Amino acid sequence: MSSIIPEQMRAMVLTGPGNPLTLETVDVPRPATNELLIQVSACGICRTDLHVVDGELADPTLPLIPGHQIVGNIVAIADGMESHWLGRRVGVPWLGGSCGSCAFCQSQQENLCDQAVYTGYQRDGGFAEFTVADSRYCFPLPEGFADDQAAPLLCAGLIGYRAYRRAGDSKRLGLYGFGAAAHILIQVAKSQQKTIFAFTRPGDAQAQQFALSLGADWVGDSSQSPPAALDAAIIFAPDGTLVPAALKAVRKGGRVVCAGIHMSDIPGFPYQDLWGERCICSVANLTRRDGEEFLPLAAAIPVKTEVHSYPLDQVNEALNDLRQGRFTGAAVVIP
Ligand SMILES: [Zn+2]
Ligand SMILES: [Zn+2]
Repeated sequence: MSSIIPEQMRAMVLTGPGNPLTLETVDVPRPATNELLIQVSACGICRTDLHVVDGELADPTLPLIPGHQIVGNIVAIADGMESHWLGRRVGVPWLGGSCGSCAFCQSQQENLCDQAVYTGYQRDGGFAEFTVADSRYCFPLPEGFADDQAAPLLCAGLIGYRAYRRAGDSKRLGLYGFGAAAHILIQVAKSQQKTIFAFTRPGDAQAQQFALSLGADWVGDSSQSPPAALDAAIIFAPDGTLVPAALKAVRKGGRVVCAGIHMSDIPGFPYQDLWGERCICSVANLTRRDGEEFLPLAAAIPVKTEVHSYPLDQVNEALNDLRQGRFTGAAVVIP
């Protein structure tokens, strides 16, 4: 490793579920086989980070540095890797590795691999000055995006895009929950002439105004019925009661896509609401192919992300602000 790389770094560390993250000085990690050492310049905050910190996702590796929307520059590489990696800017997403040999991995469904490891969950992530990542799961980032602007593309953007594809060829699309993912996805959908119905928490005028400013054709509370039946709905909010609500809002043959990694229980509903070939599905994680498709598309549109920056020692405040819905767009940590 180069002499300019320090021995130690600052990191925000999770010691147990439900605990606030603590600012600690820890050793700078060393890149193992296939790995890159990355100096983090920005790391997006995702609702999944809240689920990890709150203990809603089982068995995180502890102690853990969360954060899985990492943008940074490569400052060291594993022995035997080619030097062209050095100095390049890369993005590190949620999918940190997969087995490569199971039936899922061999059929372009590495997002479903049972041996997959996830950044900021089983592997240390980006709420730190440095991180290591498997080079095979990192993305080159389009040049048009500044570091902080690029960070939310890596999960909010990617997962939103995967959910959008699963919603199928829909013209009238409902988005339930208008946070980081929806504010990116609406720009993709509007560039493809979709009609967008944005649903927010009841009375969240700020989020509704934000959706209108990004081109939503209709905004309303999640308890409202849209003025026309939807072809598909994507649920980003972690609220299971939205599933039967969205099902009532879609036409026969329509789809309800649940895009979050965690959701409260879904209440019962009459079979009549599912009848007519409506369907409910979930979106799990991402594949590298999603990134290869979405990142150039985001650059071509071009998507503009609204970001709110927090210094490293204020990750807990950022997580709380996310929990309370205190900002529009996405939060980004700048170490
Ligand atoms: Zn696999
Ligand atoms: Zn995420």
